[in-house]
Amino acid sequence: MKLRDYVIGANASMYYRLNFKKIKGVYYPKTEQQVVDIVRDANEHGFGVTPKGGGSGLSGACTGGNAERVMVNSLQMREILNVSKDQGYIDTQPGATPDEINALLASSRMKFWVAPSSRDIATVGGILSTDGGGNDTWVNGTMRDNTQRVKMVLYNGKRLTVDWDGVKCEDPDLERDLNKHNMTLHDVASAHGTLGYITEMRLTIKPITSVPVVGGVVNYSDNTAAGEALTKMIAKQTPVTYGEVIASAHADVREGFTPPLHVIEIPEEDLPGLEEIVDFKQLPSDEVARMKDIRIKLPKRQPKEGGQVALFEGYGFHAESLKNMQDRIDEIDALLRRHDLEPFAKYGHGPSKWYLGDNTPAYGIILHSREIRPEGKPGKEVYQAVLDIVQLCKKLKITPKPEHKWPFSDEVKNARLTELRQVLGAGFNEFMLDPEYNDILASMV
Ligand SMILES: Cc1cc2nc3c(=O)[nH]c(=O)nc-3n(C[C@H](O)[C@H](O)[C@H](O)COP(=O)(O)OP(=O)(O)OC[C@H]3O[C@@H](n4cnc5c(N)ncnc54)[C@H](O)[C@@H]3O)c2cc1C
Repeated sequence: MKLRDYVIGANASMYYRLNFKKIKGVYYPKTEQQVVDIVRDANEHGFGVTPKGGGSGLSGACTGGNAERVMVNSLQMREILNVSKDQGYIDTQPGATPDEINALLASSRMKFWVAPSSRDIATVGGILSTDGGGNDTWVNGTMRDNTQRVKMVLYNGKRLTVDWDGVKCEDPDLERDLNKHNMTLHDVASAHGTLGYITEMRLTIKPITSVPVVGGVVNYSDNTAAGEALTKMIAKQTPVTYGEVIASAHADVREGFTPPLHVIEIPEEDLPGLEEIVDFKQLPSDEVARMKDIRIKLPKRQPKEGGQVALFEGYGFHAESLKNMQDRIDEIDALLRRHDLEPFAKYGHGPSKWYLGDNTPAYGIILHSREIRPEGKPGKEVYQAVLDIVQLCKKLKITPKPEHKWPFSDEVKNARLTELRQVLGAGFNEFMLDPEYNDILASMV
């Protein structure tokens, strides 16, 4: 890893070709007042501001595109300020990770329940900005479901507090305007750092309860059968605590398993309900651990020829697209092949929960996809495949990248953020909403 990766973004997916001359400053504030000073200064010089947490977001948002900007990193803002076990919340700075929060809570038998696989590096400020979650969003919700309020600094340096009832601001006119627009935490969730800099958060914590859990596997004839089973689990609210479908896997990464298959953990007492829906084969705990390990390693394995590429962080299959999953996957795979990309592995959380751009919750499966990129395939061509997938998803009623939705691919969210930025100021992550954004990212692949 190079020094620049630490400074700018170690994991911002494929968007590495940044024009470093356009970065006018990299800051690591420790306090809200320092954020205010940095942002005001950037505003006076006409520079944009890009908030950055752990740099693990996969939509390239924390790179700031290639606009003239300052980078404001939260990694020195990771103090946990207050723990209220009785009232079930913590107040924390935005740069803490879920793992750090839970290490602090361990002795109190309380837990912060949002657990993306990146929970050791992703910050709570970044996770809210992408509305992420772990493979248990079905049970524990996404980040927005676990956030009670945030404090933010706006491009003009003013401070704002946002919760589920609305907004409070030191400027009463601004407060009135934003409340007229009904701004709430729904807007901050998945805003990709376009509204302001989150400086403090109140997050829900809940007790750790230990009910006996059983694990095992379900084999499906095809992905439509998997989609139908998931539809039934959603209708019956089957309390699956871990659910991962391996929908497909290239011969280079199969370890004797035959997808599609579904690794499931569920409280023992709920097993009969699950068995009414699927043919569940209970496995010893070490075998379940092996299946989980195979799943977690899929994105880390390489094909024998070519390289692995993550074009998309997730396809959200829900409602009709869930019921016809195999056809939909076949259409996506055909599109990939037309672009000379070979499907490598598809796997994902189900049943799962996420939010659509209009803030309605969706329930289904989030299927991650990895493809084989032939040696020497130019970035612009790869990026064109991404844009074509967005269009295909719209046609097939699949939510593209539900956890990390690109505002440009979700017209409703884009319009809402644009509306709010007319009131809040438009200096943060401008490129995320800019129609030129596609071109910027295409030049960076
Ligand atoms: C190996 C790996 C596994 C992953 N697994 C999952 C998973 O299971 N579930 C999941 O949901 N995601 C997952 N992700 C994606 C990633 O971890 C999330 O997108 C994460 O939420 C981003 O957090 P971050 O701190 O790294 O934010 P960054 O990548 O630094 O930034 C993400 C966005 O948040 C904004 N932002 C950051 N901090 C602030 C702030 N203080 N104020 C305002 N805006 C801010 C940035 O501008 C940017 O738009 C994974 C990523 C990797 C690399």
